[in-house]
Amino acid sequence: MQDGFGRRITYVRMSVTDRCDFRCVYCMPERMRFLPRAEVLSLEEMATLGRAFVACGVRKLRLTGGEPLVRRDVMGLVRALGGLIGQGLDELTLTTNGSQLARYAADLYAAGVRRVNVSVDSLRPERFAAITRRGKLAGVLEGIEAAAAAGLRVKLNTVALRGVNDDEFDDLLAWCGVRGFDLCLIETMPMGEVDEDRTDHYLPLTEVRADLRRRWTLEPSDWRSGGPARYEMVRETGTRIGFITPMTHNFCESCNRVRVTCTGELYLCLGQEDRADLRGVLRAGGDVAAAIRAAMAFKPRGHDFVIGRDQRPAVARTMSLTGG
Ligand code: SAM
Ligand code: SF4
Repeated sequence: MQDGFGRRITYVRMSVTDRCDFRCVYCMPERMRFLPRAEVLSLEEMATLGRAFVACGVRKLRLTGGEPLVRRDVMGLVRALGGLIGQGLDELTLTTNGSQLARYAADLYAAGVRRVNVSVDSLRPERFAAITRRGKLAGVLEGIEAAAAAGLRVKLNTVALRGVNDDEFDDLLAWCGVRGFDLCLIETMPMGEVDEDRTDHYLPLTEVRADLRRRWTLEPSDWRSGGPARYEMVRETGTRIGFITPMTHNFCESCNRVRVTCTGELYLCLGQEDRADLRGVLRAGGDVAAAIRAAMAFKPRGHDFVIGRDQRPAVARTMSLTGG
């Protein structure tokens, strides 16, 4: 599939649920209101969508959310989509907060998943609890250990937050280094109203990278994971560090992905409103693959994210709805 700018769309991120057992401060308000269940696609409907995307030429699917592993019976979906690997699909991956990973790691591997991204913003239990508003670091670390033991390649995702975890990047990098994990730092994006002003914690990664260079030897790497991160090799650890920089460096020109919400809306860009209602097509018994192909013509050139005091979020929906 190609969009109107000639970009090949080969990667879909599917949000399995908008629900989550954490309430990360930059992602959701404390009193997050979740969607009524009737609006959310069944797991069978999600599997049908996955098959339609693969029929349209999509090679990589990532399940995300909300927290994908809190959805009941989610492994049925993982197995259904895992069955597409080698039948057009190259890779099925997952982004998770890790809270349920200890329970599911072996099943994920058995279903064909080989890589998981686990979001960890701090390795200090109290700080971790404060950022997630309820998460327990020990359970997440246990999940990461189980994932590695099951044979899954683990990458850590860390949102860089000024005044919150900006003194921990060395520790995170070293911790990942001894375990052979890559680390990916992410700039906060202005998505959805949360209880705080994101300007207070926004940290440009250009600054972080320059600071890391004082202590680590970062060497250029053209390795890509299929997502927006730009990687550098860390000579001291032999692992990679990635930077996802939607704010300081817009990467839209090479965008290869679209997203589906748990209600079956196909969002063509994380930072814009352009979308197509696949649930309507699905429930009316229509041709989902044709609807997907038709929507590609409307994929916008890029996002217009700006973070500033008194700025409204670029889009009203939270990352947990669109699927980060
Ligand atoms: N619950 C899973 C997790 O936390 O990994 C998957 C969904 S979560 C929305 C996916 C990623 O988006 C996480 O790494 C999270 O830190 C990130 N995220 C959420 N809100 C964000 C925001 N406003 N700006 C930047 N990253 C954000
Ligand atoms: Fe949940 Fe992930 Fe959002 Fe944190 S970032 S509240 S774990 S969906």
